[in-house]
Order: sequence, then structure tokens, then C-alpha cells
Amino acid sequence: GFYSSTIAQLPPDPMFGLKARYQKDPRDKKVDLGIGAYRDDSGKPWILPSVRLAENLVQNATDYNHEYLPIGGLPAFTAAAAKVILGKDSPAIAEHRVVSTQSLSGTGALHLAGEFLRDHYKSAGETAGETAPPLVYCSNPTWGNHFQVFGIVGVPTAKYPYWDDASKSLDLEGFLKSIREAPAGSVFLLHATAHNPTGMDPTPEQWKKILKAISDHGHLPLFDSAYQGFSSGSLEKDAWAVREGVHNKEYSFPGVLICQSFAKNVGMYGERVGAVHLVLPEHDATLNSAITSQLAKIVRSEISNPPGYGAKVVSKILTTPELYKQWEQDLITMSSRISSMREQLVQELERLNTPGSWRHITRQQGMFSFTGLTPPQVAQLEKDYGIYLLPSGRASIAGLNPSNVNLVAQAIDKVVR
Ligand code: PLP
Repeated sequence: GFYSSTIAQLPPDPMFGLKARYQKDPRDKKVDLGIGAYRDDSGKPWILPSVRLAENLVQNATDYNHEYLPIGGLPAFTAAAAKVILGKDSPAIAEHRVVSTQSLSGTGALHLAGEFLRDHYKSAGETAGETAPPLVYCSNPTWGNHFQVFGIVGVPTAKYPYWDDASKSLDLEGFLKSIREAPAGSVFLLHATAHNPTGMDPTPEQWKKILKAISDHGHLPLFDSAYQGFSSGSLEKDAWAVREGVHNKEYSFPGVLICQSFAKNVGMYGERVGAVHLVLPEHDATLNSAITSQLAKIVRSEISNPPGYGAKVVSKILTTPELYKQWEQDLITMSSRISSMREQLVQELERLNTPGSWRHITRQQGMFSFTGLTPPQVAQLEKDYGIYLLPSGRASIAGLNPSNVNLVAQAIDKVVR
């Protein structure tokens, strides 16, 4: 039977628990800097103009229906999605080295990748007869769900140093040391852009060192791409690290995994649009087809086939030139609003002479800032000012707008004094 003595009560998910407290808060000046979802200048969810146009086209097409998609997803979507991340002239795509399957957004992509690694990835040590399980190394800190997603499918995880709190920047030396010391064939999970939660990405020179070390030690890079377009506003610039890893012949990897989400950059959070791409080092039609069949088996047994609506809308955007242009414009709208909020927040803190330095907030990019606020300061912001952020001090900058940014700065000023 089911017993309360054996089924432990778990605490609420930190992020969704925070959202629930925010929603219950009766204060009208409350501010939600928790969840990583874009808000417009009036603090409202934003349906991208490109999405509205695409939805019209999709819904008014004569073949519009709600039939099942194939197990691997909508082929037009997965093919176009691969081009978004790898580039439309990607040699890897031209050489048929990319195996793609549609997933339940980024989380589902990571879950599929985890299961596939668990069952089918052999590291150098294992092929030589050892039985070391593949181990996924995640940055410290990382998106909280990474450990849970891999844990639930039985893939052990480890942490690599990433954030240096003292300098509020990347701990490159610690990161590289961890790559050198990990057992050959480990998996390194890399945030493709807009690192969550720190907002601090490696520079191109740093990326080259990281990728070279991963390659030299026989590891496999797994790019988690959940924010393409959110850092710089440019899809191309934000895919730089992934494309460098996939296309630069200086590196040789057992493969490159990419877990791609369209939740944030298309703003279709709840429609669960995503994909997994596995880039193989060389073209091998037999292997390619075997991998496709294994991924299909996992999808079939877990969700039977992925959701159709969001994939149809996103593939309409990706394959219609005018809509693609509108989408690029929408990404600029979102990313530039976020950067201007970073700037205003820091300016107000500086105007108030708030103790400490705050310029790291404008050096960071993407949706989040690792503010440096401590758990007690965060708790006080929530209690006294109705400002909600994660205890780690991570703030979703998208929650700031012209009518609350100064109030937030003033509240921060009060709690740090
Ligand atoms: N990866 C990172 C780093 C994230 O921040 C998120 C969402 O917050 C995801 C993956 C997955 O998001 P989704 O499953 O909504 O696509």
C-alpha cells in the first residue's frame, strides 16, 4: 500500500513555490523576479508578433488539424531547428551527420539525452573494458533542474567550478582543471549562451580553451541551448560556441549533443517546443539510422509522439522568410529591453550610492543576473517589499520594467545597508 511513513513529503519546487507565494501576495507593488519568462514593459507576458502571424497562417491553412505527429516529431520543424542552431550552411547538416528528434521543450530534450547516454554511450574507459558509467558534469552553479533530470534517469552528475564569487566572473582555471581531471569520455554540460543562473558566458577565447580541453581529454560536450537570441539579440552570435564546437576541425569529439528549447526565444513556454540533435563525427548511415530508431523507441514509450501545435507554429516561423525576419526583430525587442533594464537598475543603485559594486549586472547577459544578494537579503526583499527572487540572489531581469525598476533598486539599497 501507500504509507506516509515511506512516502516522504518533498518541499515545493523552489521556482514554482516562489511563483505561488508571489501570486498569493496581496500587495499591488509586488515584483516577480523569479521565473525566467519574458515580460513586456508593463510586466505582462508577451506574444511575439512573429508568433501571432505564424499562428494565423497555421490555423487558416486548409490542412490544419490536430492529428498525431510522427514519433520523431514534425520533420519540417526538426530540420529547420537544426539550421537555427548550427547555421543554414552547416557542413555537419550538409554531410548528414546530424540526428534530430523533437522533444518536450528543453527539459524533455535533456531527459531524452540523459536516457540515450545512459543506455548507448560508451566512454573510452568503458570500451576498453571498464564499467564507469557516463557522468554528466554540470557547472557550479547551474539550472537547478539539471541534477534532477539526470538523476531521475539514473545518470550520475558531478559539478565543475564555473563562478568565482569574489571577482563575480568566470573561474576559467577551475573549469579547465576539472576538464583535465575528469575520467576520459565524461560528458560536459555547457550552457550555449546566457548562462543560467549567472548570466556570465565565456568569451570566444575562453570557449576555445574550454572546447580544446574537452576535446583533448576525450569528453563529449552537451550544449544546453535554452536562450539563443536572448544574450545579444542575434541568433547567429548566440550560437557561436555551439557552431565553433561542431564545425572547427581542431576539435575531435565522440559526438556533440545539443538540447534545444524554443520556450524562451519564441515565447511559447507552455507549448513545449524543443529538439535534441546529436552531431556525429562522421557520416555513417547505419549508425545514424540505429540512433534514430533508439530515440524513437524512447519517445514512443514515454510520450508516444510529441505535441504538434507549437512545433507547427515554430516551423512556420523558421521556414517563412518574412516571419523569420519578424522573429529576429522580436528577439532584438526582448533582449534590448532586458539590457536597458540592467542599465537602469545599476544607474539607480549608483545614484543611491548603494554599498558594493553593481557593474557585474550589466556585464552579465541573457534573462538573469546573479546579483550577489545573500539569502537573508533576498528574504527581506520578499517580506518587506514584495520583491521575489531566488535565495541564490538570481534575479530574472525580464521582471523589471520602467514602473518598478527604481523601486527595486531602492529596496535593494535598503536591504544591503
Ligand atoms: N535549460 C536551462 C538552462 C533553462 O534555464 C531552462 C528553463 O528555464 C531549460 C533548459 C528548459 O526549459 P524548457 O523545458 O521550458 O524548454
